[in-house]
Amino acid sequence: MDAEVLIIGAGLSGLSAGRVLQAAGKRVLLMDKGRSVGGRMATRRIQNGLADHGAQFFTARTEVFQQVVDEWLVQGRVRVWGHGWSDGSLKHTVNDGHPRYVSVGGMNALTHHLAEGLNVRLNAQALSVRYDSHRWIVRYGDEGLLTAGVLILTPPVPQSLKLLMEGSVDLHPDDRAALEHIEYGPCLCGLFVIDGDVNLPEPGAIQNLNKVVYWVADNQRKGISEQRIITLHVESSYSRAHYDDPDENTLAFLRDELKQYLAPDAAIVEEQLKKWRYSVPLTTHPFDCLTAQGLPLVFAGDAFGGQGRVEGAYMSGRAAGQAALDLLK
Ligand SMILES: Cc1cc2nc3c(=O)[nH]c(=O)nc-3n(C[C@H](O)[C@H](O)[C@H](O)COP(=O)(O)OP(=O)(O)OC[C@H]3O[C@@H](n4cnc5c(N)ncnc54)[C@H](O)[C@@H]3O)c2cc1C
Repeated sequence: MDAEVLIIGAGLSGLSAGRVLQAAGKRVLLMDKGRSVGGRMATRRIQNGLADHGAQFFTARTEVFQQVVDEWLVQGRVRVWGHGWSDGSLKHTVNDGHPRYVSVGGMNALTHHLAEGLNVRLNAQALSVRYDSHRWIVRYGDEGLLTAGVLILTPPVPQSLKLLMEGSVDLHPDDRAALEHIEYGPCLCGLFVIDGDVNLPEPGAIQNLNKVVYWVADNQRKGISEQRIITLHVESSYSRAHYDDPDENTLAFLRDELKQYLAPDAAIVEEQLKKWRYSVPLTTHPFDCLTAQGLPLVFAGDAFGGQGRVEGAYMSGRAAGQAALDLLK
């Protein structure tokens, strides 16, 4: 067999699961369809700058995750960007006392660090997953096959279910029902390179969850970009309704929203659109991961454990790593 444990997805949850298994001395292999690890911890290079276009920052709400973040702080991997955001007023910023952490060098850099020393196969898109004679057989790319004793699935749950369906894997009806209950919202994201000043209040972002464009952030003031690049995120119901609109229409809408923050002589010099079909879970599973009944199979990711988001993904991966160790016993 290629691995004792195969993890599909090298985003935050897959990487944190991989580290648990590697630390326990297991032969673990991760595969990801992307060119790089990180998944939704995504950073894009545009001209001379960097912009985070997936996760923007994260918090630590549990003691266990806070300890992990404290280590990253000591190592210089993350830093505190602020303690709250303006809700849209250009002057006033709410300070609720909770640190908002960002990864130094862009969110993707933290996942590169977590991937160090792990066996990760990139550009490897799993197409189907089959269970036969006590082993998992994963078909990927043109002709690729990987086999493993235990499988951890970390893509967004609808994508994981599709992989199992392609390989005719029967899940227990209770597990299937729990997994089908998990839903995600889409997010349209605009990235704008600006020549000139942008008026965003300290520390360089606005978050107003009641607005269609609920997030506007300056990656230069975030400290990850030499060039001024602004990230805008659109809330899920508008993103769903306009997901298939022509890109130029969506960019025109975002450009219009951005204008109110631009100094009179500032100019947009480049713009890009990124569409996330599964951005954040809207409904979650109550436990940190789900071990399928009767199969050596674990589901993990930010949709597990109720936290959602970066913290939830990391903690879910850890739990999945432990669940895989239990299955190997
Ligand atoms: C626009 C946006 C804004 C966000 N803002 C925040 C924020 O400010 N704060 C916060 O805490 N969280 C935020 N999040 C959520 C956060 O990014 C996620 O919770 C977290 O990164 C999820 O990690 P994960 O490992 O569960 O999933 P992912 O990062 O999605 O990892 C899954 C991996 O599986 C891979 N994959 C999928 N299908 C296959 C396949 N068939 N074969 C091989 N590989 C496959 C993908 O390429 C991906 O790398 C945001 C997300 C988005 C998209």
